[in-house]
Amino acid sequence: MIHFHQVNKHYGNFHVLKDINLHIKQGEVVVVIGPSGSGKSTLVRCINRLETITDGELIVNHVKVNDKSTDINALRRDIGMVFQHFNLYPHKTVLQNITLAPIKVMGVSEKEAEETARYYLEKVGIPDKANAYPAQLSGGQQQRVAIARGLAMKPKIMLFDEPTSALDPETIGEVLDVMKKLAREGMTMVVVTHEMGFAREVADRVVFMDQGQIVEEAAPAEFFANPREERARLFLSRIL
Ligand code: ADP
Ligand code: MG
Repeated sequence: MIHFHQVNKHYGNFHVLKDINLHIKQGEVVVVIGPSGSGKSTLVRCINRLETITDGELIVNHVKVNDKSTDINALRRDIGMVFQHFNLYPHKTVLQNITLAPIKVMGVSEKEAEETARYYLEKVGIPDKANAYPAQLSGGQQQRVAIARGLAMKPKIMLFDEPTSALDPETIGEVLDVMKKLAREGMTMVVVTHEMGFAREVADRVVFMDQGQIVEEAAPAEFFANPREERARLFLSRIL
């Protein structure tokens, strides 16, 4: 579903991604961890071309992401993204936030978009919040709306960039639970997170990045019990 072959990226003179090789199959859940500034967000943002790569090859859902002929909107329709800050429209209701893109981008009827939105609100556990405004919700609830909004586009891939980092501790669990459910249902997911419990429990693979490189890649049980690389050991000793 996602293939990085020898991908490099520079920001000006700064070499932010170095020889990235990463292959993610349909239905896999890959958790990306690493120190701040190691390139995790950049890596994830390349997948839906929020960032462009400098060289190498990146193929997502059989499409060469950086080809001139690639229909970037079609590519992005298949990729949902959830950020640290939920970026909901404050003056629209929860339902309107979720139905906007399906109606405008996919040409779905209002009625169908609303049915879909209610289905996903149920799925993320807040069916009663359809008519609320974002400011009336907790951070965890807002993030669940953001996830429902992503799912309403029926994506093949969901990208998460520190989805719980801005949340109060007591609402982190409810967002992780929704993500766990998604993972169990077979969604292909790339998740940048500091939630090691989530990584241990849900990830098929953990990818550890440092200074723009993938330093280590392993099954979580193996990675957490016995990291092979010194830099990974050091990182884990700091956060666990
Ligand atoms: P992470 O998500 O692991 O914290 P990022 O991918 O956000 O790392 O950033 C990796 C490095 O690239 C950091 O040193 C950051 O300062 C730098 N960087 C990120 N975005 C830009 C940008 N638009 N222009 C220049 N440098 C950037
Ligand atoms: Mg980041």
